[in-house]
Amino acid sequence: MNIASLLVKTAQAFPDGIALAKGEAPHATWRAVLRKVSVMATHLRHRMGLQPGERVALAMTNGVESLEAMYAIWHAGLCAVPMNAKLHPKEFAFILGNSGARACFVTPDLAEAIASVKGECPSLERIIDTTTRDYSFMAVGDPIALHRALPTDPAWFFYTSGTTGRPKGAVLTNRNLLAMSQNYYADVDRPEPGGSIIHVAPISHGSGLWNFPMLARGVTQVFPESGRYEVPEMVELLHRWPDATIFLAPTMVKRLIESPAVGEIRPGEIRTISYGGAPMYVSDLKRSLELLGNVMVQLYGQGESPMTISHLSRAVHADKNHPRWEQRLASAGLPDTCVEVRVVDEAGQSMPTGEVGEIVVRGDTVMDGYWQNPEATAKSLREGWLWTGDVGCFDEEGFLTLKDRSKDMIISGGSNIYPREIEDVLNTHPAVLECSVVGRPHPEWGEETVAFVVPREGRAVTPAELDQLCLDNIARYKRPKEYRFIDALPKNNYGKILKTDLRTKL
Ligand code: AMP
Repeated sequence: MNIASLLVKTAQAFPDGIALAKGEAPHATWRAVLRKVSVMATHLRHRMGLQPGERVALAMTNGVESLEAMYAIWHAGLCAVPMNAKLHPKEFAFILGNSGARACFVTPDLAEAIASVKGECPSLERIIDTTTRDYSFMAVGDPIALHRALPTDPAWFFYTSGTTGRPKGAVLTNRNLLAMSQNYYADVDRPEPGGSIIHVAPISHGSGLWNFPMLARGVTQVFPESGRYEVPEMVELLHRWPDATIFLAPTMVKRLIESPAVGEIRPGEIRTISYGGAPMYVSDLKRSLELLGNVMVQLYGQGESPMTISHLSRAVHADKNHPRWEQRLASAGLPDTCVEVRVVDEAGQSMPTGEVGEIVVRGDTVMDGYWQNPEATAKSLREGWLWTGDVGCFDEEGFLTLKDRSKDMIISGGSNIYPREIEDVLNTHPAVLECSVVGRPHPEWGEETVAFVVPREGRAVTPAELDQLCLDNIARYKRPKEYRFIDALPKNNYGKILKTDLRTKL
């Protein structure tokens, strides 16, 4: 099945429902979106001569056009390559070249960046700028019927953030995306028609992936006019488009709960905040629950099994009287309905409960492989299991706790230290806004722990106080040997803290 058949069905079920909104203004109904998308698909196939299976990239800041372009690509039987709008031109060039995209949709702010690298990308024939006549012309003409794609046909190349070497294109098929969407209903939520999703996070990542389960339920897709995540703007949009679902990286949740605008959110305006993509600290999570009510659902996944490995449900967040409530909040929850998850040793043998190993996952959401990268594919996909590169353990109740990525783990005097554990403790200090813990080489111990701490504005905190906090809460050997106070933590385009950058400051 072609993933774009979801749009055909939604246009039948809710023809006059508001499909897209630009800020507070409704932009198009589902019937109108299907019409436009299927006319655009005609242009892609017949005017531009693209053949089913060929790739079309997107270098677009969030906007209604990004979703229209994606559905036009799928409707035509092509494969979308959504790129993060904040990438460097060199990174765009790599992805365009690697994916072999023949066309690229751009928003005007990125047109120059893409044009500047066109010469390096031999396959790239056409840049389609959404402000040009070329683009407006794509809405004129006859619609084309939905391309009958196979479940195994690639639909989305999800390029990894490339924190270790070159990005790799995880090939996601129609089946992967459909399984992910069904899993949303099983484990996260079943949104109601008339509700909204507010796309404040990049549509090339989690927020874009969630478009499917939302669209299939007739939920309005709202694009903030700024094209960015601005808390006050989002809060205004919540008044206009209540019953909202929002995907946020943990650092974005942090910005929300730190903003004075959070107090203006009324009950019922937020339906679900699905957070994930990086560790969420327990102190931030508790504060979110206090301020926003029971709207938080965590997901743990990766581009290679998008949004689907494990989840921490709304019910678990709400179960405050459970004796293990805090431990549960610190975990990534239970395995998702649609996948099998195991924690294994290097040989792939399951580890006993409580013991740490690599997390592997198998199911219909797991990618087909990395595009034209058989070595990386062979390393990651073994006998159907995806080796995530994440380490963690299961507890007796089946909750999965992540212990940082193996490369972030610190080994000091032969003991494993998981930075997350120390960060969770430091974050409970009222003067700590954010922190991140990394390992520094040490001649005797192998590595020692260093904490980078961002103090809250106007608040002072001393190393001695933080040291005492650690002594009160965690084993002595784990505590940081040095505290570095800095103004901000380095983050990538998805808001993930870049420990690699911090290590260069040591
Ligand atoms: P990406 O493919 O860019 O989405 O990155 C996926 C990686 O982010 C995973 O392999 C994890 O290391 C991390 N990650 C995703 N979700 C979570 C979560 N809920 N808690 C902690 N880390 C996460």
